[in-house]
Amino acid sequence: MIFGYCSRCVAWLYAAEFKSGSIPWTSQNGIRIADQQHRHECSMCMIVSVPKETVPGEQRVALVPELVPKLTQASLDVLVQPGAGESAGFFDAEYEEKGAQLEQEVLNQGDILLKVQPPTIDEIGRMHEDSFLISFLQPYTNVAAIKSLAARRITAFSMELMPRITRAQPMDALSAMSTIAGYKAVLIAASRLPKFFPLLMTAAGTITPARVFVIGAGVAGLQAIGTAKRLGAIVEAYDTRPAVKEQVESLGARFAELGLATKDAEDKNGYAKAQSQEFYRKQQEIMGKYVAAADVVIPTALVPGQRAPILITEEMVQGMRPGSVIVDLAAEQGGNCALTEPGRDVVKHGVTIIGPMNLPSTVPFQGSEMYARTVTSYLVHLLQDGRPHVDLDDELTRGPLVTHRGEIVHEVVKAKL
Ligand code: NAD
Repeated sequence: MIFGYCSRCVAWLYAAEFKSGSIPWTSQNGIRIADQQHRHECSMCMIVSVPKETVPGEQRVALVPELVPKLTQASLDVLVQPGAGESAGFFDAEYEEKGAQLEQEVLNQGDILLKVQPPTIDEIGRMHEDSFLISFLQPYTNVAAIKSLAARRITAFSMELMPRITRAQPMDALSAMSTIAGYKAVLIAASRLPKFFPLLMTAAGTITPARVFVIGAGVAGLQAIGTAKRLGAIVEAYDTRPAVKEQVESLGARFAELGLATKDAEDKNGYAKAQSQEFYRKQQEIMGKYVAAADVVIPTALVPGQRAPILITEEMVQGMRPGSVIVDLAAEQGGNCALTEPGRDVVKHGVTIIGPMNLPSTVPFQGSEMYARTVTSYLVHLLQDGRPHVDLDDELTRGPLVTHRGEIVHEVVKAKL
């Protein structure tokens, strides 16, 4: 006997399919329907859960209130842990107003878990089997978590592995976060440099502008160039991918011509390919004069899945003027400067070398907004009839998929473990 239907996912339900049949049901024309204002009891609607991040220093949250309706309109229920958005400036009442429910323990209730930082082993243990996870996962290095996700039969998507194709642009979390990192790196450098950035004509004399050298002009590097230009610095930049020259120049910076042969610099996804040790040695040698002339160096050079290449040697740091600043945006991948200590600020040979970790978390409001947009766009892309559909023929589904049906399914991740 049909008992009623769910007004959200429009599934007709038998009495046995109600989770408890309690309060959230209202009656309309004699048919019982789920109340949109409450997390209802329909066993067909999936629950998206959003926990408070637990990694020390992480201030972002994976979902912001404004995006809750996007999920409820897609027949999903949204559960948010109280205080989850507080450090980013999003408060519990705003989530409730937009249709989410607050629950203290969300990990074991969610069918789909949205996170910023990879879940800990303990968090994975609290998720239920066969649930879905969308998060940054650090899939190439986070061996224990990836194995644990597979062991618990969780279908996990890693936001780092989103294909860099036009269709996936609204889901490109890495680019969104790199934008923040590039911007913030310049602000940090400007506040630590014992000099002004802009040219100033004052009664007390003319101040010459600071010189900034950006190594690696991907998303973070280009944002750093733009921000440093806006602050009035003279900016030079270099990248192994020749295609970047035009982008650097369009921002008003000068492209450093190192005269290195970089024909095979880019893979099919637009990422830099690793170069030979001989190449890096030559690059260091030729780049020495640019580094020495700079007041601020912002290296951002990464090669996916590998330790960041060392591009600034100790000798090059010695060649810099005391008081100069290096903000090493590759610190999380080991650093582009040989003297970088990830997570620390050190002064070596009179040069301040900053190895920031997790810069996107230092702009948590927009960091959360931007990240949440990418994650919800991805989740909506996966949905079919109110639940994620793992279509292995779809490049966007397959690309970030790391674990599925108890297996590690991403070939590159599997090979790295
Ligand atoms: P990234 O963070 O992996 O690397 C940063 C930069 O370092 C890259 O530009 C890389 O070429 C450069 N680099 C690597 N080794 C270097 C070396 N030895 N010396 C100097 N520079 C070096 O890069 P990213 O910011 O993620 O961007 C990678 C590519 O993806 C770019 O082509 C970007 O335009 C493209 N992209 C495409 C889309 C899209 O189409 N949806 C979105 C974002 C980025």
